Amino acid sequence: MKFFVATKNAHKLAEFGKIFEGSGISLFSEKDLAKPLPEAEETGSTFRENALIKAREGCKATGMPSIADDSGLCVDYLGGAPGIYSARYAGEHGDDNANNQKLLKELDGVAINKRTARFISAIACVFPDGREFTVEGAVEGVIDTKPNGNGGFGYDPLFITEYGCFGVVPPEVKNAVSHRANAIKKFKEEIKKYI
Ligand code: IMP
Repeated sequence: MKFFVATKNAHKLAEFGKIFEGSGISLFSEKDLAKPLPEAEETGSTFRENALIKAREGCKATGMPSIADDSGLCVDYLGGAPGIYSARYAGEHGDDNANNQKLLKELDGVAINKRTARFISAIACVFPDGREFTVEGAVEGVIDTKPNGNGGFGYDPLFITEYGCFGVVPPEVKNAVSHRANAIKKFKEEIKKYI
């Protein structure tokens, strides 16, 4: 079965491609379309709502079953921030370095045992006939006091898991244990009810 992946984030797209490899599900994306999709306005108040907005947009534009991920980092000490605002935490959408610097500043002086956090990924799936569902995956970690490595993207250099820091571990490790991997595992189960 073929799905359109509604994302403008090349890193997410690469992770989707790797995690779906060999699953019998094939993906295509904006770069396979004649013209780019308009930027979907993320007006939802949850990861699931924002993922649905993006997947509906993708389905409307392509007429194909579409999936989209909305994801982010939830830090306990900050009451769950940056959460759904992760991409625009420091203002400009997608400025990873500024976001990481802001996070380090907000947690300045906070003891390591109080720096617990999780990445969350919600994946929405929308079919042209109007059926839709969402799944959610998470991975637990703590926020380091300085960036490590230059692997992954976003907050990965600050996110330490029991498997290592996401900025340092090889992509195969992140793609086996990440929030996105956990959401895709649930997606693969759920999709069986729809095909
Ligand atoms: P979205 O594109 O609106 O879903 O925003 C996702 C934002 O959450 C990204 O810009 C990153 O800041 C953060 N994020 C989501 N997934 C990851 C990840 O796997 N590693 C690091 N940061 C992530």
